[in-house]
Amino acid sequence: MSHDHLSPASRVVALGRQPRVPGAGVNAPLEFTSTYIADGPVNYARAGNPTWSAFEEALGGLEGGDALVFASGMAAVSAALSLVPHGGAVVVPSHAYNGTTTLLDQLAQSGAVEVRRVDPTDQAAVREALDGAALLWVESPTNPMLEVSDIRALAAMAREGGALTVCDNTFATPLVQQPLGDGADVVLHSVTKYLSGHSDVLLGALVTSSTDAGRALNARLSTARLLGGAIAGPMETWLALRGLRTLHVRLERATANARELATRLESHPQVSRVRYPGFGAIIAIEVRGGADAAERVASATTLWTHATSLGGVESQIERRRRYAAEPESVPDALLRLSVGIEDVEDLWLDLAGALDV
Ligand SMILES: *Cc1c(COP(=O)(O)O)cnc(C)c1O
Repeated sequence: MSHDHLSPASRVVALGRQPRVPGAGVNAPLEFTSTYIADGPVNYARAGNPTWSAFEEALGGLEGGDALVFASGMAAVSAALSLVPHGGAVVVPSHAYNGTTTLLDQLAQSGAVEVRRVDPTDQAAVREALDGAALLWVESPTNPMLEVSDIRALAAMAREGGALTVCDNTFATPLVQQPLGDGADVVLHSVTKYLSGHSDVLLGALVTSSTDAGRALNARLSTARLLGGAIAGPMETWLALRGLRTLHVRLERATANARELATRLESHPQVSRVRYPGFGAIIAIEVRGGADAAERVASATTLWTHATSLGGVESQIERRRRYAAEPESVPDALLRLSVGIEDVEDLWLDLAGALDV
């Protein structure tokens, strides 16, 4: 049954269900099998699994394309980068997720790709960097600087020059933006974050459009998954689909909390800068007193969890420059706040208390 007419709030609940036949389970089956009886649509479980199909139907429906689930966000990044011909140039935001940029740097060292870093908000610089490039990597908002790109304009520039556009949509989620509709060729998710939402699984996904060109890309990415072998476990996929059911209410609450906290942080005397794009639930703040002060804040909180990662129901806080892979253009005292769904007054009291330590 088509759910195309439904609003996103209903689609996260309704997509990826079993056919409505009497006695069928309400939820997708959790199928643990490595192989299937011969002559069916899938013969071996590295190529497909009914739990994957349910998740892929749901995510594909939300993004407006065809989804492929991967073992992690980074497995999806690796598969997406397999689209770059040997030695091809990849244009990437200077502040993209550091796993992505570190992998690109490693590939560059062996000559597999050439990496061109740009400020994605500077369209003239992106246009120049795209000259002869094979791939444009978009991440919007960026991690952790929260720069927002004009995806439609960037994807059009890439297409003009013959480059593919991959858009990492982890921070925004398909409820905020659907990059395929803006001209991106591939959408990437670390499903680990908002889509699953409970900090209990690692999972990734790629989504391509339903055009002929999109289907051809999907076939290449599906082969990369089959032969790369970094496949998702059925249990993780089932948990992610279960988490996805509440994406709309989680994000609505987390966003309302983030808006309120961003406003209050603006006038906190210990905070010198607040970055908040105006949507979503990630805030980056710079605290006075440098890296040490920022580390003290992160470890003084008791409701906020001092941990890496984001997008869970629980609020998380972390100084990003504690990682050597984070570029020096990210301020030393920058704390990334992933705002969860707790009571906003409790979150504020805990954070304000830690800032005053
Ligand atoms: C976490 C993250 C990734 C990597 O995903 P994993 O599931 O941790 O492998 C990629 N992109 C962004 C924006 C992320 O936040």
